[in-house]
Amino acid sequence: MQQFNYPTTLFYGEGALKALAERIRGRAEHVLIVTDATLVKAGLAATVTAALQSQGKDAPRVSIFDGTHPNPVEEDVEKGLKAYQDGGCDALIALGGGSPMDTAKVIRLLTAHPGPLAQYDDAKGGDKLIVNPMPPLYAIPTTSGTGSEVGRSGVIILRATGKKTIFFHPGLMPDVAVLEPALTAGLPPHITAATGIDAFTHCLEAYLVDAFHPMADGIALEGIRLILKHLPIAYARGGDLESRGAMQIAAAMGATAFQKGLGMVHSLAHPLSARYNTHHGLANALLLPDAFAFLESKELSAPARAKFARVREIFREAGMDRGGLAESIRAFFTALGVPLGLRQHKVPETDLDMLARDAFEDTCHASNIIPVTREDMLAVYRAAF
Ligand SMILES: [Zn+2]
Repeated sequence: MQQFNYPTTLFYGEGALKALAERIRGRAEHVLIVTDATLVKAGLAATVTAALQSQGKDAPRVSIFDGTHPNPVEEDVEKGLKAYQDGGCDALIALGGGSPMDTAKVIRLLTAHPGPLAQYDDAKGGDKLIVNPMPPLYAIPTTSGTGSEVGRSGVIILRATGKKTIFFHPGLMPDVAVLEPALTAGLPPHITAATGIDAFTHCLEAYLVDAFHPMADGIALEGIRLILKHLPIAYARGGDLESRGAMQIAAAMGATAFQKGLGMVHSLAHPLSARYNTHHGLANALLLPDAFAFLESKELSAPARAKFARVREIFREAGMDRGGLAESIRAFFTALGVPLGLRQHKVPETDLDMLARDAFEDTCHASNIIPVTREDMLAVYRAAF
């Protein structure tokens, strides 16, 4: 018996933000927008506020909390919760990339559950304490990468431990995700590339996970096809709304597919962000080509070889095959302006051993297409250096 879940409502395309405003009208009296200072400065918080307030006398009041850090900390959640309570709010909007999404999800948790936050740590079975109904949460992503808008977990750095801690519960999943292409049109090319590569990595690693999940597999393969076609266009011409929209869909598809699991690339990428604050998508980009060269050098099972061949076929159809999956991916990333080579990103060669230990301790590689060792991790870091 298998259970498959695809429950998020998506509003997609031009007019999606207006549709959200209509949806909220009369259902919420006071909405808290959780975002960061950059998005306020870019005018996106004002765009969302104006859309909500264009709904006449039933329009909700709007408050803005812009104190989210790039790697959100417990204090961000506490301040956001205070803004929610002080305003007498009854709904939340997460506006931004993965960080405001994560913060808003955990604020949502604490609006209906007592502190301290640490007791809800998923690694300690804290999800069982999440039992109360929570206020509505609407997600408006402004990047196309993490797919956090369709996910049910939030990651916050706890004060007591200084560690990234996962909070996970179906009730943390946004009620509606709004994919309005124009909201991502202002992303600079290097962020467009890095976030898009994160979505690509989600699709690719999820597809390769050896588990029975034909729905996730279909979504992952189509996600890869969309990204090969549209990421180069969105990178070169940020204002191309068709490609921006396709990348929004592909990011949501990647995160939908990776409920199957991820693989060694994410395990290799996580320590770079933890140690050197490397952008998560860029970290994936730096390690994926050599991780795949490593995988291609191994004796793989027939089903695994068939999966590699299927992905290469998509590269071939896109006119992007370079004779092997690793080399095709390397050429794809290079064309997106990614400076490959860990040495170019302030990673000291003397740290590689420590990184390999961290990567091996990371849980993502548990679902890698073949089991990998700490020595394998080190070999990939060396090759990627
Ligand atoms: Zn990722």
